[in-house]
Amino acid sequence: MDQSLLELRNVSREFRIGGGLGLLSRKIIKAIDAVSFSMPDKPWITALIGESGSGKTTIARMILGLLEPTSGEILYKGKNVNEWIKRNKIEYLKEVQPIFQDPYSIYNPFYKIDRVLEIIIKKFKLASGRDETRDLIVKAMEDIGLRPEDLLGRYPHQLSGGERQRFMLTRILLIRPKLIVADEPISMIDVSLRAIFLEHLLSFKEKHSISCLYISHDLHTASYLADNIVILCYGRVVEDGPKDQIIENPLHPYTKLLISSIPVPDPKVRWAERIDLTSIESIKKFRAEKGCVFSGRCPNATENCLSETPQLKNIGSNRRVACHLY
Ligand code: SF4
Repeated sequence: MDQSLLELRNVSREFRIGGGLGLLSRKIIKAIDAVSFSMPDKPWITALIGESGSGKTTIARMILGLLEPTSGEILYKGKNVNEWIKRNKIEYLKEVQPIFQDPYSIYNPFYKIDRVLEIIIKKFKLASGRDETRDLIVKAMEDIGLRPEDLLGRYPHQLSGGERQRFMLTRILLIRPKLIVADEPISMIDVSLRAIFLEHLLSFKEKHSISCLYISHDLHTASYLADNIVILCYGRVVEDGPKDQIIENPLHPYTKLLISSIPVPDPKVRWAERIDLTSIESIKKFRAEKGCVFSGRCPNATENCLSETPQLKNIGSNRRVACHLY
């Protein structure tokens, strides 16, 4: 079997929550529960789709080495990510780069953006002198559609949200990693700029062989961008497979619900149940503690679903589903 670029093997992550000094008042929450999926070692986009609170960001943080799994293993090019980072963090970050939802949070507000890019070039040893550094910056900005003559010399707060996020893309173009972990990258930018941003992710894959784990609540953009889709529900993978098959023939009731809530530009077509993708409270309310995690919302739930957790099964054509119906 070919080696994967990225592989999550049975990864779980627990958090202790609750106040008070006594250990008894604390509760353990399993944010991620036995998650397994992989990305092939070729230019590829996987979309990891789920509602708020489904554990998407926890997975992103673990892949980036910002959190360790409680159990299971994350492998990049066949090697354990945490061991790689402990051994040589810069080498790992040269391969795997993040794009966060709010780019502002990662900028030092006291540095002009030129300085931010110069630090990156120095850190990853991308140029040997001032002239080469300047040329690289100007070329990367122009390739992303930013005007260096207008933006260099400014501070991050002087850039619009869209400019800041495209500045993140400039950073990616300079570093040329093998994999981008993009966590809700377009949710804070103007609707008019979202398509341009997605086009850049596609061109990174096609022109520069940069793969992407596109993490989002939005199945609509995933269906445009991704090669395959992984559906995450309350910390568990409930379905995955090639993009076209997931969109055209969803099997898991949760995937069906997500697809039916994508707006259709036809006034005669009514949406099915609209999913509240932002309310953590609504998620807590419906999350089943035992059996299938989706049983509290599933129209097909049976007695068996309330007591027995369905395992992810291969059902052919690179598809897997975790539901007692299959
Ligand atoms: Fe619904 Fe049961 Fe399938 Fe869960 S296992 S999705 S509750 S039918």
